[in-house]
Amino acid sequence: MSEKLFVVGEVKDGALRNVSFEAIAAAKIMNADAEIVGIVCGDDDLESQALELIYYGADRVVTVKHDNLKTYTPEGHGQAILAVIHDESPNGIVMGHTSIGKDLSPKLASKLDTGLISDVTKIDANGDQPVFIRPIYSGKAFEKKMITGAFPFITIRPNNIPSLERDPSRTGDIRQHDIQVTDIRTIVKDVIRKATKGVDLSEAKVVVAGGRGVKSADGFKPLYELADALGGAVGASRGACDADYCDYSLQIGQTGKVVTPDLYIAVGISGAIQHLAGMSNSKVIVAINKDPEANIFNIADYGIVGDLFEVIPLLIEEINKV
Ligand code: FAD
Repeated sequence: MSEKLFVVGEVKDGALRNVSFEAIAAAKIMNADAEIVGIVCGDDDLESQALELIYYGADRVVTVKHDNLKTYTPEGHGQAILAVIHDESPNGIVMGHTSIGKDLSPKLASKLDTGLISDVTKIDANGDQPVFIRPIYSGKAFEKKMITGAFPFITIRPNNIPSLERDPSRTGDIRQHDIQVTDIRTIVKDVIRKATKGVDLSEAKVVVAGGRGVKSADGFKPLYELADALGGAVGASRGACDADYCDYSLQIGQTGKVVTPDLYIAVGISGAIQHLAGMSNSKVIVAINKDPEANIFNIADYGIVGDLFEVIPLLIEEINKV
């Protein structure tokens, strides 16, 4: 194996986020012959997470366990990952373009004195060198980038590069690194989360998003029902969040989350450019709006012109029949 590519596994609530497995697939596309080394940090026993990385294609995994890695901090995780990088000297790094990836990757790139290609949605490996494709101008165009330096460091957008098939018969070495993560100025004592239930919005395969047309917090209840029936998550436009129909953590768009589900159902959303910035790359877009001129229909694959309060119960009824 000529090269060694590092994949950073991201742990949330004790489990690896799917994007960690997608990052392994991305590393394999970059160099099918490279040794893929996973890294996971935390304060708990990381054996099960390390094994999952191996089942999804990592050749071996380095874990870093320390009390100060219980919650993500750029100093703590940065220090741990840098120590492993210095120890292992990989030829490149892949991680998820999540809120942690967005925070950590530029800091690591700067410490490593290397470039960074962020938010990659596709990798074309047909030429001599991989070409990294990423959306720009809020998803209105795509740019292609190549690495001119020796060290590829990329972050990948969740839900775009399919992970490899999970193979529990795969084996690989798991080594615990003994770095002491002590040189940190910020210690997170506790994280008090707003109660969120169900599927993680940024990794959901189906998103049902409501807008100002939903008219109230109560109006969102059928959207939750539809999302549950489809195994998806609920999102929202900023219009709906501003009107206090739902929490800002659900906001999708330029100043909210970017999602690329297989199916995006926009309910009572007009399709402002700032909203499209967060969802226009979804694979199939369905719009439900009573205004046939609404901009959302310009990017929708399927449009239903009608009153959402009539359409949604009918959809739930039909889906529940299947
Ligand atoms: P509206 O534009 O009011 O649309 C409501 C829609 O509901 C209408 O099309 C109407 O026909 C339909 N409707 C009403 N009743 C029904 C019914 N009974 N059945 C079916 N349809 C119905 N917006 C975001 O979403 N995300 C962002 O990240 C974001 N960032 C922004 C950043 C900046 C700097 C700025 C200036 C704006 C940003 N916005 C963002 C706001 C954006 O410009 C729009 O104001 C917002 O997206 C509108 O939300 P909406 O579509 O829910 O509401």
